[in-house]
Amino acid sequence: MSSIRSFLPVSGMELPRFAGIPTFARLPWIPVEEARDVQIGIVGIPMDVGTTNRPGARHGPRQLRDASTQIRLINQATGVRPFHLARCADLGDSPVNPADVRDCLERIEGFLRKVVERGIVPMSLGGDHLVSLPILRALARERPVGMIHFDAHTDFYDSYFGGFRYTHGTPFRRAAEEGLLDLRRVVQIGIRGSAYDGEDVAWARAQGVRIVFVEELADRGPEAVMAEARAIVGDGPVYVSFDIDGLDPAFAPGTGTPEIGGITTREAQRMIRALDGLDLVGADLVEVSPPFDPSGLTAWTAVNLIFELLCVLARAVERRAR
Ligand code: MN
Ligand code: MN
Repeated sequence: MSSIRSFLPVSGMELPRFAGIPTFARLPWIPVEEARDVQIGIVGIPMDVGTTNRPGARHGPRQLRDASTQIRLINQATGVRPFHLARCADLGDSPVNPADVRDCLERIEGFLRKVVERGIVPMSLGGDHLVSLPILRALARERPVGMIHFDAHTDFYDSYFGGFRYTHGTPFRRAAEEGLLDLRRVVQIGIRGSAYDGEDVAWARAQGVRIVFVEELADRGPEAVMAEARAIVGDGPVYVSFDIDGLDPAFAPGTGTPEIGGITTREAQRMIRALDGLDLVGADLVEVSPPFDPSGLTAWTAVNLIFELLCVLARAVERRAR
């Protein structure tokens, strides 16, 4: 077993943050086949073959790694030091096929299976939201998982373009059909905007999914909403999926399907911190689209939320190891 020290990020006090090859948060890069002692693995999934409107999320992982060199060691709000609690490494990018949706999903599932088989908790960087489907296929093979899902959209649509079933608007409908999600332990937060026909919301509610529209979040506040979400997912395994378009476009304009009236960065930080104590088995942050992010603000915002996710994932890993 390697010592925790070899898994710590390169310090900005030693090598300036703009220097060197950017792995996520300046963690060591370890190919998944060689990752024996890793507990949390950063996985890039550079694909946007599921995007129905404005593409570009295939460029997300690379831009997120670049922006992530700003990440430091300590969460000053919670005192958590994720890289000291759990051995974290950047496992590189999953293979993808930008020309074939189903083949792309199989490649991603195969890569994630290697991650899961090694007992590594995946923190995945999208990619469009369809990446959550192959991740769940690898992660929830043995038993369905609960999910806390931050997004402007439910992604519970059945199909697009006359029956095509694999887009970034359908991953959780497919995951539900495939028995990967325990729908009575799924909570969606931040849903809003105009809709096609409402079938996604009606279907999900009929299955027992708890949908918190952003107006309810604004009325009740993040603490009350998260207390309810924690009670719903309970003690069982929970996956966290964070679509950056859950945030207001004022904070995260660089995404394919922005919706006004969204979650603020402070609310997002508080809600992610409220995941502490849950049995978290993995997380993703998706839909950062660098071509629509000329200032880099969206990636800058996203990497800080990924740091918050790493903090609660590391706490869960540490608790399970005890
Ligand atoms: Mn989404
Ligand atoms: Mn969305």
